[in-house]
Amino acid sequence: MDNIRRILHIDLDAFFCAVEEIRDPSLKGKPFAVGGSPDQRGVVASCSYPARKFGVRSAMPMAQAVKLCPNLKIIRGHYHDYSQASHQVMDYLKEITDQVEQISIDEAFLDVSSLPSSSKDLAVRIQTYINSELNLPCSIGIAANKLVAKIATDFGKISSGQFDRPPNAIHIVPPGLEADFLAPLPVKALWGVGPKTETNLKEKNIHTIGDLTKIPEMEMINLFGKWGYALSQRARGIDDRPLSLKHEAKSISQETTFAQNIKDEEVLIDTIDRIARQISRRLIKKNLQATTVRIKLRWPDFTTITRQLTAAHPTNDQLVIRDEAVGLFHKAWKKGQAVRLIGVGVSGLAPEQLDLWNYQSKLAQKKSQQQLKSAISAIRDKFGEDVLKWGEDLDD
Ligand SMILES: [Mg+2]
Repeated sequence: MDNIRRILHIDLDAFFCAVEEIRDPSLKGKPFAVGGSPDQRGVVASCSYPARKFGVRSAMPMAQAVKLCPNLKIIRGHYHDYSQASHQVMDYLKEITDQVEQISIDEAFLDVSSLPSSSKDLAVRIQTYINSELNLPCSIGIAANKLVAKIATDFGKISSGQFDRPPNAIHIVPPGLEADFLAPLPVKALWGVGPKTETNLKEKNIHTIGDLTKIPEMEMINLFGKWGYALSQRARGIDDRPLSLKHEAKSISQETTFAQNIKDEEVLIDTIDRIARQISRRLIKKNLQATTVRIKLRWPDFTTITRQLTAAHPTNDQLVIRDEAVGLFHKAWKKGQAVRLIGVGVSGLAPEQLDLWNYQSKLAQKKSQQQLKSAISAIRDKFGEDVLKWGEDLDD
């Protein structure tokens, strides 16, 4: 019994909408959605519970949402506020235990195995604090592993019967009852079962997770290979993955020291371009977005300045980072001034969100990629041995 873990999964209910209601309490009880505009192929990022009654769902095209709910109020979104509220929640959770794995802006796992209080007491305490001190509704799932805890949260939300206000659910799956809890649920409730696998399973007359457990493991392996084995394990509620507590980068930066001092504006801007592209690539690889862009310039006399700017929306888009860095550069640099080093950095990092805001710049990005590539190889040919330095400040 000693080795049984106690995992809490916490998920804020309609998080963006809850923050919007703090900003503007008159939104309470009204159908509204945060997202892009319906005539610009916008998508619903989050919708209030009253909007859900009309069938509005997140990730749905806004045009469709407006058809379902003609009185739907559309809010463009205040990302900075979401990010701040998220930090407050995560900071609070880290006060409870250092065993916290944040999995998105509004979701986290806590491993509370080593804490003296019961899981239920902890969940009630956490929910009460987040409700009353941070004014945010949240639901919590409790189980012996991450897989089942997360499904327990979703189950709690749905079975709460609250459709016009946030569910604020707490659902506990006692150890040993994982398979029983999962059995009646549809297979798509399992992590990793997308529409394709779901169709595949339905063709084999497998609809519920319980159906899945009736298929011998060997047959699952024959049908789906390695994935079949994993699926078999998950269907039985088995999941040994520990929390991932890797230290998150707080900032990402890169700088270039020129082999000779540079006065040529075009070369300086090409350098910013190249660094922005590499930073963007690193952000995308880590599924992160940044809100603050900064630039560092060193003059031939070794004096160094930095300038930074916090944007309205988080981004990992190379062109947005580039444009902000170039803007900062132009404010700090006078024509003809020699530069010894240029650095670009980003901070205010948070997990990537549905990309509602950068849709158009992504299109522009594709177009400019060719131009950019040739600019980069040109500058490489010209200056050869740049000294490149990557920087990453770690949270510790
Ligand atoms: Mg949520």
